[in-house]
Amino acid sequence: MSNQIHIQNQEVEDNIISSSEIRENKNGDTDTNSLDCFLKSIRKLNPGEEEFYEAVKEVAESIWDYLDDHPEYQKSSILRRITEPERIIMFRVPWTDDNGEVQVNRGYRVEFNSAIGPYKGGLRFHPSVNLDIFKFLAFEQTFKNSLTTHPMGGAKGGSNFDVKGKSDMEIMRFCQSFMTELYRHIGENTDIPAGDIGVGEREIGYMFGQYKRLTNEFSGSITGKGLLWGGSKLRAEATGFGLIYFVYEMLKTKQTDLKGKRVAISGSGNVAQFAAQKAIELGAKVITLSDSAGAIYDKDGINYEKLEYVKYLKNEERGRIREYAEKYDVEYLEGEKPWNIECDIALPCATQNEINGDDAQSLIDNGCICVAEGANKPSVSDAVQKFQENGILFGPGKAANAGGVAVSGFEMCQNGMRIQWPIEKVDFMLQQVMEEIHEKCVEWGTVNGSVNYVRGANIAGFQKVADAMLQQGVV
Ligand code: GLU
Repeated sequence: MSNQIHIQNQEVEDNIISSSEIRENKNGDTDTNSLDCFLKSIRKLNPGEEEFYEAVKEVAESIWDYLDDHPEYQKSSILRRITEPERIIMFRVPWTDDNGEVQVNRGYRVEFNSAIGPYKGGLRFHPSVNLDIFKFLAFEQTFKNSLTTHPMGGAKGGSNFDVKGKSDMEIMRFCQSFMTELYRHIGENTDIPAGDIGVGEREIGYMFGQYKRLTNEFSGSITGKGLLWGGSKLRAEATGFGLIYFVYEMLKTKQTDLKGKRVAISGSGNVAQFAAQKAIELGAKVITLSDSAGAIYDKDGINYEKLEYVKYLKNEERGRIREYAEKYDVEYLEGEKPWNIECDIALPCATQNEINGDDAQSLIDNGCICVAEGANKPSVSDAVQKFQENGILFGPGKAANAGGVAVSGFEMCQNGMRIQWPIEKVDFMLQQVMEEIHEKCVEWGTVNGSVNYVRGANIAGFQKVADAMLQQGVV
């Protein structure tokens, strides 16, 4: 048995492990072979972790030529090191439900990379999560955070806890139990969690309360806090608003803007709600929203009043988007996503893998000109390839949705200074960050006159982390 394990480990080791070795060993071989070899080793080291593999593959493919011109990265095995999480924490989360029964969930925190700052990234509570998903999200977060220009490393965590159908007290007990383990691993200079799917201001409140109680310290160790207790103005709006600021920049490269454009949005949570709000403000017509049960298609466009109802429905009532269709007498597409509806701009704001190759084709056939990801990796690689081959403006999540974590960075600054900035200041700074991210994508992603935002975001995000790693030695 132990021999077998030894053999397996040996195989894994034999199969690369440093990108410099590959290049030296394969002297004369094409880059594709070396890249294949590297990716094979990632598969072996992370068996069954499809999401993580796909995320690594996309980055490795984007930066491979760039690495050719940088032997210093190869020499220090930067690619190999940057694809290995610095630390993974997994723990039991026991709690008692309203019937007095003991429930057990699993908690995770993947601290991926701290080369440019303390670990930073959200917590997701959703039954679908597992280690693979958290590794993929934390890996993506590392590059996203690097793009924001703030000194923040990458992390992600959460639990397979399902907030749906739980009472407020059950959620509080769960959050307290989760934090009772997590608190020892985080801190304002170590790791600063925030929200993500299933974790909003309510959950952050319960976790922060428990953190404060356990540490006897009121510090900025979590972001996305309430405005009365250390939160930043505009943090709630930041991901959605930032997404639209990014879309605005993308459209500018084609001498157009959002006025009169039909926008299909998926999801109806925090990101979708504020992306819709800003899109409406800039003159667009938002025609769809969705949830896990289906999508609504409002031909006349969702106005501010209807959007207020969506916020009430989703944030207070915790109801289904179908109720919107009933209230406003619009089409409800049961069990469907909104990608078969004619639109000019598509904003996937629900979750990963929600646009497949067929969905992408249908968006292209229906004349869509721009796709920007409010969620993390909602488009599978086939879809991305289709968008790029068809000249669609495609903004990957790590660039387009970086506004949320950027304002988390501002929240950390305000906490450090014990002040709260006015909303106008935060909004202005958020716009600046999104413009800068766009500029970096253009700088590094322009190929034959058109911008490959995936390449641009990956190279620009990688560069800063890789240089910091080089300067800090082999750690
Ligand atoms: N969960 C968000 C993201 O995917 C925000 C993370 C944060 O604010 O730390 O970027």
